[in-house]
Amino acid sequence: MNNEQIQAMANELRFEAVRMVYEGKDGHPGPALSIADIIATLYFDVMNIRPEEPAWEDRDRLVLSKGHSCPILYAALNERGYYQPKVEHFNLRQLGSKFQGHPSMRSTEGLDMTSGSLGNGIAIGAGMAFAAKVLGKDYFTYVITGDGELQEGVAWEGVNMATGRELDNLVVFVDKNGWQSYKSVEYTVKYNNIADRFRAFGWHTQEICGHDVEAIKAAVAEAKATKGAPSCIVCDDIKGKGISYMENNNNWHKGVPTDEQYEIAKKELGRG
Ligand SMILES: [Mg+2]
Repeated sequence: MNNEQIQAMANELRFEAVRMVYEGKDGHPGPALSIADIIATLYFDVMNIRPEEPAWEDRDRLVLSKGHSCPILYAALNERGYYQPKVEHFNLRQLGSKFQGHPSMRSTEGLDMTSGSLGNGIAIGAGMAFAAKVLGKDYFTYVITGDGELQEGVAWEGVNMATGRELDNLVVFVDKNGWQSYKSVEYTVKYNNIADRFRAFGWHTQEICGHDVEAIKAAVAEAKATKGAPSCIVCDDIKGKGISYMENNNNWHKGVPTDEQYEIAKKELGRG
């Protein structure tokens, strides 16, 4: 796919994520829309995967540390062909559905890790990356973490270990949208100097716009070419990106569009 096609796919995924929340009458649209372009670029360009063989042992891995943003990942897996037949209605967060509000690797194909307990993704990804080194495999591990969940101490234990083990096969995206569940990151910890912190730990750190497919591709290429250190890509993102009334409005961290709002979302994402 070229960049324009990936960007269009990102908006397709955005619509599917919002449709999931609208139909299920529950869910987290803001965090999902924030990472749509990163997810689309990973699954439709970057990652070495086999949708027909989800557990292929040499596949690249993704750990979605901010697990509640999973509707966008479910949409990507669906579009990429992991589910046969293609899923029409996800029944998001419904009892018995395999598409739960926090992703479960034991119930959903294509998920490399269960997540939702915030802060754990980097340490888990570091473990996967270290396993590749031990086993002599050349797969890459990607992690997407929120900026709010970096307040968890375990995140920095993982960061530290990845430096020590020189995990140059680990790439962490930070979805720096400035918000966490109900407050701004600045309100909670005052400083949101994430790139400086990763650099202080010895990580190869880049700062990009996380809604620019070309920039994401270039940053991944640079990360993969970096030897001897793990990589962090700090993405300046807009929570709720793509739907005007959700953008940078933390009331949409969790919420369900009304019928009228759903129609607006459809139009703005090119479905109207
Ligand atoms: Mg955030």
